[in-house]
Amino acid sequence: MNAISASAPADLKAQFPGLAGGWHYLDTAATAQKPQAVIDATVRAMGADYATVHRGVYARSADMTLAFEAAREKVAGLIGAPAQELVFTRGATEAINLVAYTYPRKGRVLLSTLEHHSNIVPWQLAGWQVDVCPLTADGQIDLDAAEAMLTPEHTMVAFAHVSNVLGSVLDAPRAAELAHAVGAKLLLDGCQAVPRLAIDVAALGCDFYAFSAHKLYGPTGIGALWGRAELLGAMPPWQGGGAMIDRVSFAGTTYAPPPQRFEAGTPAIIEAIGFGAAADYVRAIGLDAIHAHETALVAELRAALRARNDVTLFGPEESAGIVSFALDGVHSHDLGTILDEEGVAIRAGHHCAQPLMEHLGVPATARASFGLYSEQADIAALLRGIERTRRIFG
Ligand code: PMP
Repeated sequence: MNAISASAPADLKAQFPGLAGGWHYLDTAATAQKPQAVIDATVRAMGADYATVHRGVYARSADMTLAFEAAREKVAGLIGAPAQELVFTRGATEAINLVAYTYPRKGRVLLSTLEHHSNIVPWQLAGWQVDVCPLTADGQIDLDAAEAMLTPEHTMVAFAHVSNVLGSVLDAPRAAELAHAVGAKLLLDGCQAVPRLAIDVAALGCDFYAFSAHKLYGPTGIGALWGRAELLGAMPPWQGGGAMIDRVSFAGTTYAPPPQRFEAGTPAIIEAIGFGAAADYVRAIGLDAIHAHETALVAELRAALRARNDVTLFGPEESAGIVSFALDGVHSHDLGTILDEEGVAIRAGHHCAQPLMEHLGVPATARASFGLYSEQADIAALLRGIERTRRIFG
């Protein structure tokens, strides 16, 4: 296993132009900064290498098609999946919408209290009956409760693999077992997990996996849905257009097999190439090393915040790269604003998880989230900023 040593993040940071100038960026769960390798790959794809894919008869387009499909293999490989089971989408949000709208056995879906709005609203809009699994006292999805709630009417369970607010890591194999025991499928929202954990969808036992490139140090505007071949094969097209057809006629149109069936129109070519470069980048560093590095930073920050005695900490001790907290008597937006003056960027708000805020009994939390480039100096700057905020607010 590689290791990101205490000093290595400084070297890694230098690979990220967005972090120049000593900015203490602690909002990687919202979106990750981009390494130069990803930027270079997208610039090349948009410049010297640019052409359309899948249709051109000239060499440049054939080369671009190979690069585009190679990117699909790299992204699929990152989660242990075959390329033909990986659909490029606009992001995790679109990936979940795609399943919510096209999964043919639409019935009851079991979600949890900690889900991001993008794993709640699509199911509501697409007409599913939504049930909500509660959390344990320390902010994990309560799988004992899930077991008691699941019935043969449930055709889908959709849980966050890692919570974007609490950093809680789901016991995915057990969730899969519970879902399958009643004949349901398991969709994992892997947005926060793919940048932080080594993922193997076969070992997890899930049926669908959704994630976004921009949280994985890649470009915005692209993400992926992995689905088991037989499940994708049974799903009808969602959006119509070019590239998703077999044969079009006014008498009746037939459709391409997955993944092309779900990729109507000219794809996000440049972004896909950047997504592939991002997959290469994290693989080279090693997801186990990234996980160990972020876990150590979480432990350090939680210990320092607990020692203050004026901070409420949310979520489990063992969380993946994310720490949510409240500074007693200070609104998280005020804290975020003062921290910004100190060159520290955190997220303050409901984090697109309003049902979770209601459960926690707070309108908002402050959230510090780490990336592979985060370092102890970022924590020190955050703690200095919190201390200054305390002096201002008394
Ligand atoms: N799920 C989780 C857990 C997330 O953190 C996010 C992004 N904050 C999303 C889904 C939605 O991702 P996107 O906006 O990239 O589609």
